[in-house]
Amino acid sequence: MTPTDYPWKALLADSIATAKALAAVLPVDSDAVARVIARYPMRINPYVLSLIQKRDGPLWRQAIPDLRELDDDLSVGPDPTQEAFQSPSPRVVHRYPDRVVFLVSDRCALYCRHCMRKRMVGRQRGVTEADIDAGIGYIRDCRAVREVILSGGDPFLLSDDRIGDILCRLRRISHVDVIRIHTRIPCVLPARVTGELAALLGGFHPLYVNIQFNHPDELTPEAEAACAQLADAGIALGSQTVLLKGINDDPATMMSLMRGLLKNRIRPYYLHHADPVAGTGHFRTGVDTGLAILRHLQGRISGMGIPRYMIDLPRGGGKVPVSPDYVRRERDGILLVRNYQDGLFDYPLPPKNN
Ligand SMILES: *Cc1c(COP(=O)(O)O)cnc(C)c1O
Ligand code: SF4
Repeated sequence: MTPTDYPWKALLADSIATAKALAAVLPVDSDAVARVIARYPMRINPYVLSLIQKRDGPLWRQAIPDLRELDDDLSVGPDPTQEAFQSPSPRVVHRYPDRVVFLVSDRCALYCRHCMRKRMVGRQRGVTEADIDAGIGYIRDCRAVREVILSGGDPFLLSDDRIGDILCRLRRISHVDVIRIHTRIPCVLPARVTGELAALLGGFHPLYVNIQFNHPDELTPEAEAACAQLADAGIALGSQTVLLKGINDDPATMMSLMRGLLKNRIRPYYLHHADPVAGTGHFRTGVDTGLAILRHLQGRISGMGIPRYMIDLPRGGGKVPVSPDYVRRERDGILLVRNYQDGLFDYPLPPKNN
């Protein structure tokens, strides 16, 4: 399936979005799927379908509705990190002093079952021109904002014209130094990354693109070609991976994913601990699982291949990195440090009055 013989708009148009259509191609319980998608939409384009190899495999779990999504067992609710509360404008989330998230689209090429914005993607009225104008107006008036993160939904589901228009207007704001785009497109609809899109984006440097990849099987030749187009346009690529139970919550899978990303000029950025979002509880692991993965990566893969492991705090506290503790104790000017092979080493500190 090459981009030229199956253009991205046709791929999207051919997506499976009903229980009946899904049951016609995969062994699923159509009633159960119908119940889930009455609440959380489904969209499976032919490319994603081609990646689903087996029942309960990594792509299946990310794409196919599961009745457990309706077990609303989480007291924290649909918006634990309080994005809605930190919105000064309908589509802007301003949590940190110098950067904002600008939700320019609420559509995605795949409605990931684990999505932290599940409460809104694919369900609302859509992002209007007035929303975009209001967001740009807010950013223009707020001189503290140095970085704008376009997110959604997926910004790359907008047309080239709309993307170009938004980027142009942001670039005209002198205090905006950096533009970052958060997307899953190269992973779930690589045909969308056309030469035209790459050339368009290349006109707005410094531009960073962070892509969500969760499993090494997602690094197909098509996905690799899409990432290469972006990298060749001079765009710095990063990855964001969500730690997902039964999908990538083991050291070997994560090692293979991180190696694959590095090989494709994508610098692993964050490993996100899955947020306590209603409808996604069955994907959540303990924090010890993530820490064990980081301990395994340390020393065994290039330092460039190790993402930071982040927890997004409830009540708008923001993201914080959690990391394994290599320092065991300090005593008499000696630090006792554990290395990646669990060996213990004394590290001499300078005298206190140094
Ligand atoms: C994650 C996030 C950012 C970006 O944080 P970085 O640590 O710079 O990647 C900015 N604003 C909000 C609201 C976020 O959730
Ligand atoms: S692409 Fe991103 S925003 Fe869209 S459903 Fe998947 S995780 Fe959510």
